[in-house]
Parts: sequence; structure tokens; C-alpha cells
Amino acid sequence: MLNIGCHLSISNGFEAIGKQALEIGANTFQFFTRNPRGGSARKIEQSDVNALKHLMSENGFSQILAHAPYTMNLCSAKVETREFALNTLKDDLLRMEYLPGNLYNFHPGSHTEQGVEKGIEQIVSALNEAMFPDMNTTVLLETMAGKGSEVGSKFEELSGIIDKVEYNDKIGVCLDTCHVFDAGYDIVNHLDEELDEFDKIIGIDRLKAVHLNDSMNYLGCHKDRHQKIGEGAIGLEAFKRIINHPKLSNLPFFLETPNDIDGYAYEIKLLKSIVD
Ligand code: FE
Ligand code: FE
Ligand code: ZN
Repeated sequence: MLNIGCHLSISNGFEAIGKQALEIGANTFQFFTRNPRGGSARKIEQSDVNALKHLMSENGFSQILAHAPYTMNLCSAKVETREFALNTLKDDLLRMEYLPGNLYNFHPGSHTEQGVEKGIEQIVSALNEAMFPDMNTTVLLETMAGKGSEVGSKFEELSGIIDKVEYNDKIGVCLDTCHVFDAGYDIVNHLDEELDEFDKIIGIDRLKAVHLNDSMNYLGCHKDRHQKIGEGAIGLEAFKRIINHPKLSNLPFFLETPNDIDGYAYEIKLLKSIVD
């Protein structure tokens, strides 16, 4: 069975987002832990969380994915930016314990002229400060397109972080199809080889979620512009191979395509129709 959902707004609370996911044929969803541009997070009501947990178990939901704000840069050259990011990460991971057993994804960050090595060092040190031994969340590094000074567009950079994370069984990767394609991994013509490469460098068991996005641009462009499924340079045939691939088919898939809610419902239906 395909585990599929999309990015949804949490503004009406947890139960509401679960109901909205059901309405569009999804059995999972992604949400921002707080305003994507940063700022404070909404108060969590235990009854609302319980209602979502009930809805999820009644309807066979897979793991859900919380996404950190884009402004959370753990490897900025600016110390204030790094401190703000670390506080956000700490707070988010504590809040995730309301929904134990789920996934938390973040963009590793942009090293802003400091160099990749320094960036990796700062990301590792923040993770080792924010993660805690009895946490019930798996933290995911997102594969990046390599725009500007982004860390994480090469599998080696991700494994460089993972290898040094202390609570090593609680860290994994979320593969974004648009990002890896834009980073230069040819998942259209060489999916098997690119997944073998992922396995060799990171380990395929680290892969816990997939962001399903088509790309507006060409292979290796380092742009990060998402397109609707089947309308970009990746194309529907490649998505059919991706969602049916034995190394991927059991993972939760999340759409982050430029769509309104009806567009997401359509893409979910489309993807379900091409499951082998
Ligand atoms: Fe992302
Ligand atoms: Fe993504
Ligand atoms: Zn993106």
C-alpha cells in the first residue's frame, strides 16, 4: 500500500489536519512545526493531539513528518542565527514528544562562506546538544539542491553529519526528489545506481521518508524550484518507478508541489493509480 500525503497547514490544529488529510485520500501528512519563517510555535492541546492519534490509528496512517522552519540555520556564520536555530531545534524536539514515534525533518543549513567542513561541524554540535537519549522521534536531514552555500546536496555531506551524531539510531534522511535531481543525481535514467550510491555512502536503512516533487529545472541545476508531478523535468514515468521501487515503496511519500488542496487530492489519486 502506498503511504502518501502532502504538506498541509496546521493552523486549525492537529485533529483538523488529520481530517483534511483523510478528505484528500492521504494516509499521512507533513506540517510546519511553526511559521516557516521562524517565530513562536502554537500551544499544543493534549486533547487535540489525542484526537489526531486516534484518527491516525483508526485510519492506518503511516508516520507523519514535521518540518522545521526554513530559517532554522544551524551553520550560519552569525552566532545569533545559530543560537536561534539551536533553540528552535531544542523546542521542536521537546514538542515532538507529544506525538511519539514520528519524523522531524530539517534543512541541514547554509554554511554562509564558512566552508562545508565548518558547516558540518556546527550542525553536528547542535544536534548533539538538542537530541536526548530517551527521545521518540527520528530526526531527518533533508537532501538539498545545493543552492548557494547549502550543506547536504552531496550524500557524502549527509553521511559526514550522521556519522558524528551521538544518538545515532535516531538520525536519518528525507530524500527530496526535486532536490537530489537538481543536485545532479539522475533519478530519472539511473534510479537503481543512485540508490546504490545512497546505500554505499549513507546506508539505505537511513532513508525514512521521501519528498515527492517534480522539478522546474534540469539535472544538476542547483535551483530548487518544485513543479507539479509529471509536469517537470523528472516526469510521471520516473515517479512511477520511484514509488514502486522495492527500496522505497514502503516509505511515507510527501508532496510539496505547487498546488492548492484540490491539486494535492488530484496528485494523490494520480500516484495511487500508478502503484503496481
Ligand atoms: Fe524541505
Ligand atoms: Fe523538500
Ligand atoms: Zn525545495
